[in-house]
Amino acid sequence: MSGTLRTLDRLDDVRGTRVFLRADLNVPLANGAVADDSRIRATIPTIRELRQRGAAIVVASHLGRPKGTVHDELRMRPVAVVLAELLGDPSGVRTLGMPADPDTIGSVERLGKREVAVLENLRFDPGEEANDPAFAGALAELADAYVDDAFGAVHRAHASVRALPELMIASGRPAIAGRLVEHEVDVLGRLLHRPERPYVAILGGAKVSDKLAVIDALIDRVDALLVGGAMAFTMLAAEGASVGKSLVEPDRFEDVRAARAKAEARGVPIELPVDVVAAAEPAADAEATTVDATEIRGDLMGLDIGPRTIERFAGMLPDAKTVLWNGPMGMFEVDPFAAGTKGVAEAVASANAFTVVGGGDSIAAVRDLGLDTSFDHLSTGGGASLEFLEGRALPGLTILED
Ligand code: ADP
Ligand code: MG
Repeated sequence: MSGTLRTLDRLDDVRGTRVFLRADLNVPLANGAVADDSRIRATIPTIRELRQRGAAIVVASHLGRPKGTVHDELRMRPVAVVLAELLGDPSGVRTLGMPADPDTIGSVERLGKREVAVLENLRFDPGEEANDPAFAGALAELADAYVDDAFGAVHRAHASVRALPELMIASGRPAIAGRLVEHEVDVLGRLLHRPERPYVAILGGAKVSDKLAVIDALIDRVDALLVGGAMAFTMLAAEGASVGKSLVEPDRFEDVRAARAKAEARGVPIELPVDVVAAAEPAADAEATTVDATEIRGDLMGLDIGPRTIERFAGMLPDAKTVLWNGPMGMFEVDPFAAGTKGVAEAVASANAFTVVGGGDSIAAVRDLGLDTSFDHLSTGGGASLEFLEGRALPGLTILED
């Protein structure tokens, strides 16, 4: 990132004005209720601050994937209910319709100081994902200033993320980052530009194809890269190992060979699993055995890193000053294959380093283990965090920079 992010510190007196707050309230729902309120909690500091400063706040987010049409089960009301609870103001958060509805416009005009209202799901309108200037124009009608706290969406050029702040700036109104976006940019920017060394990255998860770009960028920055999860099998298989029925992406063999060659040229070790927990099926009642990572029988699939690998990976952390972890080490959702993720989570948590965890599934695993307060930072942006760490210019951030 080149420019300086404009933050809430740069916002002049907002008393009696209306602030449009793009938040990431894309929470998981179960039976019509919010199943995990972490994302709502994450944006509370920004809302509190804006309220204290006397603004009326129109909060907007996408929720799920309604693809441009109204889906009743993806309405924002349950989110607004939880937001009100978290603000300690059970009756204080109203829900609005879509931005261009006359009712919405009227309600927003009547909002008083410190009042909070939640706009309907942005993705009910096809203009949101299309970055449509007309939809952004309808959003701009609702606000005197724009604050973006939706870090998880800053990599997407969508109307509420890109076209809207463009319009605000073009019309002389402020467009700035909220505290959550500010903090993510601080922490991830530190990893990108000035990590304390040694810097060790641990990557895992399902698909190497999702993470090739970040692997490439990390090779330029880290002192060691430890790879587990299913993606390790593509790397092992590309070198000729027998990986049985493990998940592999043969169309990525060339890419992973190129990444390993680059790492070797730079003297950055890429550590792959030496042993794995394998089974015939990824089932809770499957018979799991620990085998060498390069000699997995044809009828077995590797579903977790083995105990020797956990020990090896953990053994590379004591000297580290910076540790980034993204992606589970195995199919942690299924009991017999959870030990690798647990072992690595514990090792990272107890490392005497600046520790950052990214990735939706990795963070879910960390929460399940009760370790969510044991890291320096859990990044709220899945894809956005990875793209940031690739060093890419993100459309929702560059527009907030001087
Ligand atoms: P994150 O969301 O943390 O970035 P990913 O989405 O990349 O992580 O990957 C998470 C998924 O990877 C989990 O659902 C997990 O079950 C799966 N996974 C990890 N290791 C394996 C493996 N060896 N075989 C099959 N699936 C795996
Ligand atoms: Mg995931």
